[in-house]
This record gives sequence, C-alpha cells and structure tokens, in this order.
Amino acid sequence: MSLKLHNTYTKKLEEFIPLKKDSVSLYTCGPTVYDYPHIGNYRAYIFGDTLKRYLSYQGYQVNHIMNITDIDDKTIRDSQKNGQSLREFTEFYTNEFYKDRDMLNIIPADSYPMATEYIDEMVKIIEKLIEKGHAYVSTDGSVYFNISTFPGYGKLAHIDLSELRDNAKGRMKSDEYDKDSVQDFALWKAYDESDGNVFWETSLGKGRPGWHIECTAMSIKNLGEQTSGEDYRTIDIHTGGVDNIFPHHENEIAQSESYTGKQFVKYWMHNEWLLVNGKKMSKSLGNFYTLRDLITKGISPLGYRLWLMTSHYRTLTNLNIETLQGADTALSRLYEAFRALPKDDNGTVDMDYKLRFIEYMNDDLNTPQALALLWELVKDPSIPGMDKRVTMLDFDRVFGFGLADLKEEIVPEEVMKLVEEREFARLNKDWDLSDVLRAKINTLGYEVKDTGEGSKISKI
Ligand code: AMP
Ligand code: ZN
Repeated sequence: MSLKLHNTYTKKLEEFIPLKKDSVSLYTCGPTVYDYPHIGNYRAYIFGDTLKRYLSYQGYQVNHIMNITDIDDKTIRDSQKNGQSLREFTEFYTNEFYKDRDMLNIIPADSYPMATEYIDEMVKIIEKLIEKGHAYVSTDGSVYFNISTFPGYGKLAHIDLSELRDNAKGRMKSDEYDKDSVQDFALWKAYDESDGNVFWETSLGKGRPGWHIECTAMSIKNLGEQTSGEDYRTIDIHTGGVDNIFPHHENEIAQSESYTGKQFVKYWMHNEWLLVNGKKMSKSLGNFYTLRDLITKGISPLGYRLWLMTSHYRTLTNLNIETLQGADTALSRLYEAFRALPKDDNGTVDMDYKLRFIEYMNDDLNTPQALALLWELVKDPSIPGMDKRVTMLDFDRVFGFGLADLKEEIVPEEVMKLVEEREFARLNKDWDLSDVLRAKINTLGYEVKDTGEGSKISKI
C-alpha cells in the first residue's frame, strides 16, 4: 500500500517516492502580507498542513518551508495608502497570519523566510540568468526572463507555446496575469516613482524584485542548495492553490531550472478553489470572509478545518454558511464523544481502522473518506473505549482537530448541583422529581445520561 499523490506536471496520480529515503523537502507558497488572509487562502495552507501531517504520520522527517511575500506590487501600494513603512505594514499582517495559523492548528513550518531578506540571493540568481543568456535588460533597466530560451516553458500549466507564438511576444511587468498573456516576465523591476521609498541599490541598478524570483530564491536557498553551494538538489514537493500554477509556478520552474540546470521540483500539488456562489473567493471580487468573520458567526476555526476535510482538496468547494455551522456542531459532537471515553492512554490502536485510514489517505489524501471512517469509529460499539481513544488520537495527528489538547469541559456549578440532587432523587426512587430535575438541566443547555458508571453530563 503506497502513497499516491496527484502531480500537476503529469496530471496523474503518482506513487510518492522521496528523493532521500526518509526525509521530504516541502515548499508552500505563503501569504502576501498586505491584508488579513481570507479563508480561501487557508484552504491552501490547511491542505499543505494535512499533506505535511500525513507525511510525518508515514514516518518521514519533513522539512517544510513557507515564504512570506513582504514585497510585491500590492504590499507597496497598500503600505503607501496607509502611510506606513513597508516593514511596519507587512509585519502587522505577518503576525495576524501567525495568529490565524495557530487557531487553525496548522503546524508551524520549519522556517518562514521573508522575501526582503533574500534580495542578495535574488540578485545573484538574476545575474547568473543574464550571464547564461536566459534574461535580458530592457531599456528602462528592468530585467526580464526570455521564455523562448526555456524549451519546457508551459509544461506545468499545459500550455502549448507554439500555438501562442504571436501572443507570447513582448513583456509583462506586472506580477499577475493570465494564460492569454504569456510573455517574458519581470525578474527585476527598475525603480519608478510609484515605488516611493521601496528600493534596493544593487549591481542590477536601483529597483526591486519581481514576485516570481522571490520563491525561486527562497526555496533553492532553504531546500535546494547543497552545503557546497554549487550543486543543487531537486525539491520533493511544492504546493499552492491552482491559481499559482500560472504564471507563478510556471515562471519559478523556468527561472530555477535555467539557473541550476537541475529539475526544480518532483511533485507539484495544487488545491482547488474555495468558491462563493460559484465564483473564486478573492480580495479583488470582494466576496471573501476572514477567520474573524467566521468567529463572529459562531463558527470556530477548527470547525472550518473540519468542514474543509469533508471535500477532497482537488474539488471546487462552494462556501455554505449552514453546512459550515453543521461542521462546527459536528466538531463539538466529536469532542463530546472523545471526552466521554475513559481517560486512559493504555489502549491499542485498532489495526483494522488504522489500515483503512491509511488506505484512504494514501489515495491522494482522501480526507472525506477518512473523516467518514473517524465517525464510523466513534459510533462503533465493538471497539473498547480505551482503544477507541488512542485510535482517535492516532487519526487526529493527521486531521489536526486538537483532540490531544482537549481540556475537560467545565460544567457550571448550578448544573452540577441539579445533577447531584437528581442522583439523590433517583436513589430514593423519586422518579417524578428526577424527571423535573432532568428538564431543568436541559433548559440550562446540558443533558444527563444514566450509565452503569453513574450520570454523565454533556452539552446539548
Ligand atoms: P496569495 O496570498 O494571494 O498569494 O494566496 C495565498 C494562497 O492562497 C495561494 O496558494 C493561493 O493559490 C491560495 N488561494 C487564494 N484564493 C483561494 C481560494 N479562493 N481558494 C483556495 N485557495 C486560494
Ligand atoms: Zn511562491
């Protein structure tokens, strides 16, 4: 039973074979820190986190790097609007991102390199690309990558360049564009007035980097560079949302492979979009929710995490507040079921369930089936409580619903008093009083169940 992952390169499920036997290098394109990320962005990071958790569950040592894009067209534009320095502005949103990450129980990456700290690396790569004939300086001093020097251009996004030859002439200075505008793209942008005080004086002249070169520099430096500094290593997995495929990842491949002469990444993995009324959730369409918006609606961040697990990462998913609320309730039920199990970690993981869990997750991270299996386990009366507990904890290493850190629920004193009175009434076989007290407990939002080990109390 081997792990199969969908590779955007080949559009196929492929057996995952890491380049080194026991370790995996994983790069995730991180946030552009110009605003609060929306929950669509978190679909991308939760997908990356689930993949990473499952690789760790499989025993791999995962080295995970996620960049922070703290310099691009948008961070410059909005820091100026706010009258703040670029650093001050981006630092605020980076910290907000970390707070959200923790609320979503996303395991922190091993490192979060910031683009502004890698300018020297980027300049070094761009100089080499000019030297090798892959890049050229335009009349305004900006440097562009010449896509016609890279025969594989278009292989990730599956674009046939020969059909686009005429369109593909010319240059594109802006970082984001669509497939109809395939053109040479900017590696280095010569300074212009609109950049204000954001620039670096380098051997390439006064200016700033383009977006795509940032990820090339940060991923190669952190995951692809050998200790000698001369020989490069292919990165195992690179993740992002499908909108990153073109132009961002296509351009990363062109730059990186032209620079190192080696395959840049072995497996490219992309999550599908979170939609709102059939349209991609995005800042520009204004149809987005932040994590704070969900919290205000009474939906917990981990409820959102559970909701995402109900769809496969490669399916388009429409946001629906009712189903989200349902997922949040399901999460409370899961917690309740877990709390009701004996607090004893000496059980054994049920192997039948574990093997089925692995079978589903090996199938390109089939979380909907794995989640259904978790519910089956919760409801299975044939599994002893202690074993159920450790099996749930085992699965949760991948789901990340926080079962291991679950605190005991504190039942209000008023409710506890009624429970005690009811126990007393039952001892005295005063069934009428017992029913009255049960109803009172219910009106306070709790329910009481009579078990062989006494009364059990839980939230309704
Ligand atoms: P950005 O900060 O715009 O670069 O986006 C960060 C990550 O979120 C990227 O991997 C995007 O592909 C991903 N992303 C953006 N919008 C959505 C969406 N609506 N659904 C899923 N992923 C998204
Ligand atoms: Zn990137």
